[in-house]
Amino acid sequence: VAGLGVSGISAARALARLGAAVTVVDNGDGDAHRARAAELAELGIETRLGHLADGSRAGDVLPEGTELVVTSPGWQPGSPLFTAAAAAGVDVVGDVEIAWRLRELGALRRAAAAGAVGADAAHTAPADWLAITGTNGKTTTTQMLASILTAAGLRTAAVGNIGTPIIDVILGDEEYDVLAVELSSYQLHWAPSVRAHSAAVLNLAPDHLDWHGSMEAYAADKGRIYEGNQVACVYNVADPATERLVEEADVVEGCRAIGFTLGAPGPSMLGVVGDVLVDRAFVQNRQKNAQELAEVSDVAAASRGTDPAAPGPAPHNIANALAAAALARAYGVEPRAVRDGLRAFRPDAHRIAYVAEVGGVTYIDDSKATNTHAAEASLAAYEPIVWIAGGLAKGAAFDDLVRASAKRLRAAVLIGADRALIRDALARHAPEVPVVDLDRTDTGAMLAAVREAARLAEPGDTVLLAPACASMDMFANYNKRGDAFADAVRQLAAESA
Ligand code: ADP
Repeated sequence: VAGLGVSGISAARALARLGAAVTVVDNGDGDAHRARAAELAELGIETRLGHLADGSRAGDVLPEGTELVVTSPGWQPGSPLFTAAAAAGVDVVGDVEIAWRLRELGALRRAAAAGAVGADAAHTAPADWLAITGTNGKTTTTQMLASILTAAGLRTAAVGNIGTPIIDVILGDEEYDVLAVELSSYQLHWAPSVRAHSAAVLNLAPDHLDWHGSMEAYAADKGRIYEGNQVACVYNVADPATERLVEEADVVEGCRAIGFTLGAPGPSMLGVVGDVLVDRAFVQNRQKNAQELAEVSDVAAASRGTDPAAPGPAPHNIANALAAAALARAYGVEPRAVRDGLRAFRPDAHRIAYVAEVGGVTYIDDSKATNTHAAEASLAAYEPIVWIAGGLAKGAAFDDLVRASAKRLRAAVLIGADRALIRDALARHAPEVPVVDLDRTDTGAMLAAVREAARLAEPGDTVLLAPACASMDMFANYNKRGDAFADAVRQLAAESA
């Protein structure tokens, strides 16, 4: 097992419990690593940390006699360990692949535990997988899908790149009818035999290219999600690259390409007509050519609560809802459950979260917009905007983002290590937009940024935290950054009350 993180530990434990001789390798050897290694040792799992006796790095060396390597998502495909595995003819797979290979076993063991015998046990089917990938919106869409499936009375969970490690769910005691599976491009890269019932690619924008090597390789890994689909390959009509991946996929005969669009849907699509989400792909009543699913205002209604100032759903969340609805409909879910599931759904924190209205200005926390593609989506949802941005750019260029969003900006307030990159892009493409360049990365910077934004905003405006950058220059993670923003807004509200 390559990597002593959450998924590596889950894989090591599961495989050891099934009787495999497991060695975990990791180049790290800090206190946390040592503590985890001690726990695994009690299960008979060997751990090689830091450097080996001959000075080579533990994570680079394939232990003698290895028959299978299970990698953690973060490990680069070019890592020396994988080169060694290839030379030795040893397969490298990820935890999602292991979960897929063990799903029959998990179902049989649950059946046996429930007392099923003979033919009964043999007929216990493992849960179907409805799979979701994309550059942005994966977690939101996967959770929307789980909410819809739950509303349909199905036993389900959101798993994969989210929540409990997937191997633990597959081998766990709980029985599921169908799983909503979020898959990152890394996980897809290392999961060659997964065959979903139906799958969706939400969008494709350059991300993680250092890992995959090129945009083509990244797209190809995402496209694997469609391989072997049985009922529907769901693609984004506005993003032709996703449709091309469907065309290239090898699917079960009869499996259909289903589009989703924010406009009026063509045949075999879900879309929006007026204020209604409609389905023209899975219409059961032959008299009708479209099936109404839900009102636009039903999307994440639960998270907006009863505050009349809270704005409606952002367009990208309507797109996410349509993708989730398409997968649920492909699975045979009734329209009413789509509506109930969307109404009940609550997004995770810091994803276009409404914070408050202060002095006629709406404050929105999209701290999870850690790349330019995500920030572009949230900037497209509001106008006029006072934009709070900046942090660690991870090598990104900001020209496209600023060009696309310039006319919506009232002003920008910049924080964080790489703010000069955004400032320069603003100077190039939006020279008329006032910019406050807060030359600080200390923890008080967020309150200062919110005060500046409040000063620049006029009633009716939205102050939007959509950093387009990672947070680690100033905060432990994007959650802490979002919390700091919300705290600052609440302080502002208290002062102006
Ligand atoms: P992921 O799991 O792919 O990182 P999330 O659902 O956690 O995606 O959303 C991350 C951020 O991406 C959100 O805060 C929002 O800014 C943006 N986002 C969400 N859905 C979309 C979409 N369909 N298209 C573009 N950006 C999106």
